[in-house]
Amino acid sequence: MIQLFGDTLFGFSGKLLKIDLSLQKISEEFIKNDFINHFFGGAGYACRYLFEKIERETDPLSAENILFIMNGPFTLTDAPLSSRFVICSKSPYTGLWGEANCGGTFGPELKKAGFDGIIISGRSEHPIMISIKNDSVKLFDAKELWGNGIKKTRTHLKAQLEWKDSKILCIGQAGENKVNFANINAEGRSAGRTGMGAVMGAKNLKAITVQGNSFKPTITQPKKFKDSIKRLITFLISANSTKVLREYGTSATVLGAYAVGDLPIKYWSLGRWNKIHDISGEKLKKDFVIRSKSCYGCLIGCGRMINIDNEDYQAQECEGPEYETIAGFGSMILNNNLESIAIANDICNDCGLDTISTSGVIALLFDLYNRNIIESSDIDNLKLNWGNSSSMLNLIKKIAKKEGIGKVLAEGSNAVGKKFNIPKDEIATINNMEVPYHDMRFCHGMALTYVYSPRGPCHTTADGFKVFRKDNEVDFSGLGIRKIKMNSNSKTMVKNIIRLQNYRSMYSSLIFCFFSNPPPSYICDLIQALTGEVFEIPDLLSSGERIFNLKRLFNIKMGLTPQNERIPKILLNPLEKGPTKLMSPKFEKLREYYYRYRKWNPIDGIPTQTKLKKLKLNQMNFK
Ligand code: SF4
Repeated sequence: MIQLFGDTLFGFSGKLLKIDLSLQKISEEFIKNDFINHFFGGAGYACRYLFEKIERETDPLSAENILFIMNGPFTLTDAPLSSRFVICSKSPYTGLWGEANCGGTFGPELKKAGFDGIIISGRSEHPIMISIKNDSVKLFDAKELWGNGIKKTRTHLKAQLEWKDSKILCIGQAGENKVNFANINAEGRSAGRTGMGAVMGAKNLKAITVQGNSFKPTITQPKKFKDSIKRLITFLISANSTKVLREYGTSATVLGAYAVGDLPIKYWSLGRWNKIHDISGEKLKKDFVIRSKSCYGCLIGCGRMINIDNEDYQAQECEGPEYETIAGFGSMILNNNLESIAIANDICNDCGLDTISTSGVIALLFDLYNRNIIESSDIDNLKLNWGNSSSMLNLIKKIAKKEGIGKVLAEGSNAVGKKFNIPKDEIATINNMEVPYHDMRFCHGMALTYVYSPRGPCHTTADGFKVFRKDNEVDFSGLGIRKIKMNSNSKTMVKNIIRLQNYRSMYSSLIFCFFSNPPPSYICDLIQALTGEVFEIPDLLSSGERIFNLKRLFNIKMGLTPQNERIPKILLNPLEKGPTKLMSPKFEKLREYYYRYRKWNPIDGIPTQTKLKKLKLNQMNFK
């Protein structure tokens, strides 16, 4: 294994801020070179750190759980796509590895203040907030902020803050109320999945503000680094994805995903819907978008800022809905009212709810209502005829407040299933979490992506629906990933998914944005220039494999077994019409190849000793 980081931790500041909220104790910890060399930064580092601190018995909403906010080695450098940060913990939703990735400006500001990350343990007895200005860190009472949505919290803090340019990370009412899928918001962007907002709420931590000007990352070979960045920028400028994302954001993919059968319709049951053009990215741009928004230093700017102005709801310059949100609050419930989708997005952003899980659980309720399994009297007298957008908006607010039927919805789709005696095969969850909106009947490899993603079903851990398409410009042939027929159940599909999972695991540790995909050799060049060490594509893949397997071991420690590897029939039942007509992944076959190539024991799902030794994970105590 290459020792990338010696006495000088290139890119990193070397300092982690530690806050014990029970003891109200603030301290600093040096970053561990050994962890960095094996797992880089971001989610890899956080997982290695939390591995020994969190047990199977640890209640995710207790003082014993730890919330880890972490940057990568490239944060605050000039490398494009490197401004995101991760928030990791044990998830209250899945009981497994929790990880949510967020863009914006908070991560770079934290590094400017001299910290690579923040480790938050314990629980405050009353609402509290953390304020960071370089190495001056203070805790303040946050009773006044408690109960407020994210917009009000930010406005209030901006007015009160002594350090006016501070970046704000906070939760809304959903996090305070410990909704299982509450998110964390940072300057308008969301760390969405796995309920990290509930963990923060359970600690009574309302907000963190940070401002800094004391640190700049060190680069070993500045000239080489500059040249690598130039080459990367040239790539980004000429990439078609940049043009499309600049023009429409991720909503650009709505029509394309519909055309190939990637977009779910009517709770995963339809292949065609004649209202799809009403919720397109083109329509969003025409009717709502006022400007684009970029994360720190990003030349793409995929964020959409929109205005909503109708009789009942007004919002100026709020974040517009992304692809997943449009699918969830749109096609999933046959809602072609784009304005209501934008409002749903704004309410979720303000209350602090993950839009994928929120829309997933609401769509399940619509499905049950329209199949006459539940009736209005079961659900606070709401009417959920397909496309009823006002009931949809009502339900979001009920979830955030845990009010009426919202109390059950806040626990997630499986809790709804339990309440109304619904067979598990009719509920679109894997590992208790709602599946994102890329249909495995289109790209069959997504069955593996969802089942084996360490944080529960997640499309970003191996986005085969995009990368493997022959008509998509992403070229990962350098990783050995081949363009392939999307409905293939072949060994090549499985190898593709494994390589992509390994590569994306590196993305979550180096923390690059996966919306744009330069050739992997460009990433190697950046690492080489940053650290001064030779680092090639095989190193990229083997390091990613180590991080992926580490998260697997974390989950096994939390109780994951092959019994977790279940795909509900609703996601597999072939559709009668549409682009994926009569298609379905052959999961058992894919799984068999997957275990073989991963070198995991097919009986207990544990990586073999030979594999663990090779990955230098054989010392991890996961039993
Ligand atoms: S492409 Fe979008 S999400 Fe990614 S870094 Fe740029 S602005 Fe942020």
